[in-house]
Amino acid sequence: MNIALVAHDKKKKDIINFAIAFKHILKEHRLYATGTTGRVIEEATELNIKRFLSGPLGGDQQIGAQIAMNNMDIVIFLRDPLTAQPHEPDILALMRLCDVHSIPLATNIATAELLIKSMARGDMEWRKI
Ligand code: PGA
Repeated sequence: MNIALVAHDKKKKDIINFAIAFKHILKEHRLYATGTTGRVIEEATELNIKRFLSGPLGGDQQIGAQIAMNNMDIVIFLRDPLTAQPHEPDILALMRLCDVHSIPLATNIATAELLIKSMARGDMEWRKI
Protein backbone atom coordinates (compact mmCIF):
# COMPACT_ATOMS: atom_id res chain seq x y z
CA MET A 1 0.00 0.00 0.00
CA ASN A 2 1.05 3.61 -0.54
CA ILE A 3 0.55 5.52 2.68
CA ALA A 4 0.73 9.30 3.08
CA LEU A 5 1.65 10.72 6.48
CA VAL A 6 1.10 14.37 7.34
CA ALA A 7 0.97 16.11 10.73
CA HIS A 8 0.59 19.73 11.66
CA ASP A 9 3.24 21.07 14.00
CA LYS A 10 1.34 20.48 17.24
CA LYS A 11 0.66 16.90 16.11
CA LYS A 12 4.24 16.02 15.15
CA LYS A 13 4.83 14.25 18.48
CA ASP A 14 1.69 12.18 17.90
CA ILE A 15 2.72 11.10 14.41
CA ILE A 16 6.19 10.17 15.68
CA ASN A 17 4.68 8.02 18.43
CA PHE A 18 2.27 6.54 15.90
CA ALA A 19 5.13 5.68 13.53
CA ILE A 20 7.14 4.11 16.37
CA ALA A 21 4.17 2.08 17.60
CA PHE A 22 3.27 0.80 14.13
CA LYS A 23 6.75 0.65 12.60
CA HIS A 24 6.41 -3.12 12.18
CA ILE A 25 3.42 -2.53 9.89
CA LEU A 26 4.57 0.68 8.20
CA LYS A 27 7.92 -0.76 7.13
CA GLU A 28 6.12 -3.24 4.85
CA HIS A 29 4.59 -0.39 2.79
CA ARG A 30 5.62 2.57 0.66
CA LEU A 31 5.57 5.68 2.79
CA TYR A 32 5.14 9.28 1.65
CA ALA A 33 5.02 12.45 3.73
CA THR A 34 5.14 16.21 3.62
CA GLY A 35 8.64 17.55 4.19
CA THR A 36 8.92 18.17 7.90
CA THR A 37 6.65 15.31 8.92
CA GLY A 38 8.76 12.93 6.84
CA ARG A 39 11.99 14.20 8.34
CA VAL A 40 10.91 13.88 11.97
CA ILE A 41 9.52 10.38 11.40
CA GLU A 42 12.70 9.28 9.63
CA GLU A 43 14.84 10.65 12.46
CA ALA A 44 12.78 8.83 15.08
CA THR A 45 12.24 5.50 13.31
CA GLU A 46 14.68 5.16 10.39
CA LEU A 47 11.69 4.27 8.22
CA ASN A 48 12.26 4.98 4.55
CA ILE A 49 9.96 7.82 3.45
CA LYS A 50 9.57 9.63 0.15
CA ARG A 51 9.37 13.27 1.19
CA PHE A 52 7.42 15.90 -0.68
CA LEU A 53 7.67 19.64 -0.05
CA SER A 54 6.73 21.01 3.33
CA GLY A 55 2.94 21.37 3.64
CA PRO A 56 2.74 25.17 3.51
CA LEU A 57 5.05 25.18 0.47
CA GLY A 58 2.92 22.79 -1.58
CA GLY A 59 3.43 19.35 0.00
CA ASP A 60 -0.27 18.83 0.63
CA GLN A 61 -0.95 19.66 -3.01
CA GLN A 62 1.67 17.15 -4.11
CA ILE A 63 -0.02 14.44 -2.05
CA GLY A 64 -3.35 15.55 -3.48
CA ALA A 65 -1.95 15.09 -6.97
CA GLN A 66 -0.92 11.52 -6.09
CA ILE A 67 -4.45 10.84 -4.86
CA ALA A 68 -5.91 12.21 -8.09
CA MET A 69 -3.62 9.86 -10.05
CA ASN A 70 -4.74 6.88 -7.94
CA ASN A 71 -1.26 6.49 -6.44
CA MET A 72 -2.22 6.78 -2.76
CA ASP A 73 -4.12 4.10 -0.81
CA ILE A 74 -4.34 5.63 2.67
CA VAL A 75 -3.89 9.14 4.06
CA ILE A 76 -3.09 9.76 7.70
CA PHE A 77 -3.32 13.47 8.28
CA LEU A 78 -3.11 14.50 11.92
CA ARG A 79 -4.63 17.95 11.79
CA ASP A 80 -4.43 20.61 14.45
CA PRO A 81 -8.01 21.86 14.73
CA LEU A 82 -7.10 24.60 17.20
CA THR A 83 -4.57 26.56 15.16
CA ALA A 84 -5.19 28.53 11.97
CA GLN A 85 -3.05 27.23 9.10
CA PRO A 86 -1.81 29.56 6.33
CA HIS A 87 -2.33 26.78 3.79
CA GLU A 88 -5.89 25.91 4.80
CA PRO A 89 -7.06 25.83 1.14
CA ASP A 90 -4.46 23.16 0.36
CA ILE A 91 -5.56 21.11 3.37
CA LEU A 92 -9.20 21.28 2.29
CA ALA A 93 -8.22 20.34 -1.26
CA LEU A 94 -6.34 17.26 -0.05
CA MET A 95 -9.26 16.10 2.07
CA ARG A 96 -11.70 16.80 -0.73
CA LEU A 97 -9.68 14.64 -3.14
CA CYS A 98 -9.75 11.79 -0.62
CA ASP A 99 -13.55 12.02 -0.70
CA VAL A 100 -13.69 12.37 -4.48
CA HIS A 101 -11.61 9.20 -4.94
CA SER A 102 -12.81 7.25 -1.87
CA ILE A 103 -9.39 7.12 -0.28
CA PRO A 104 -9.47 6.29 3.46
CA LEU A 105 -8.43 9.38 5.41
CA ALA A 106 -7.69 9.54 9.14
CA THR A 107 -7.56 13.04 10.60
CA ASN A 108 -6.93 12.12 14.23
CA ILE A 109 -4.83 9.60 16.09
CA ALA A 110 -7.77 7.40 17.09
CA THR A 111 -8.91 6.87 13.51
CA ALA A 112 -5.31 6.52 12.36
CA GLU A 113 -4.89 3.53 14.70
CA LEU A 114 -8.10 1.94 13.49
CA LEU A 115 -7.09 2.43 9.87
CA ILE A 116 -3.60 1.00 10.18
CA LYS A 117 -4.80 -2.02 12.16
CA SER A 118 -7.55 -2.60 9.64
CA MET A 119 -5.05 -2.39 6.78
CA ALA A 120 -2.72 -4.85 8.53
CA ARG A 121 -5.67 -7.25 8.85
CA GLY A 122 -6.15 -7.15 5.09
CA ASP A 123 -9.22 -4.93 4.96
CA MET A 124 -7.68 -2.75 2.25
CA GLU A 125 -7.17 -5.50 -0.30
CA TRP A 126 -9.95 -3.99 -2.43
CA ARG A 127 -7.49 -1.22 -3.34
CA LYS A 128 -5.46 -3.76 -5.30
CA ILE A 129 -8.35 -4.59 -7.63
P1 PGA B 1 5.09 19.61 7.18
O1 PGA B 1 3.70 19.98 6.56
O2 PGA B 1 5.14 18.13 7.33
O3 PGA B 1 6.12 20.08 6.19
O4 PGA B 1 5.19 20.31 8.50
C1 PGA B 1 2.53 19.55 7.19
C2 PGA B 1 1.41 20.50 6.90
O5 PGA B 1 1.33 21.52 7.59
O6 PGA B 1 0.61 20.28 5.98
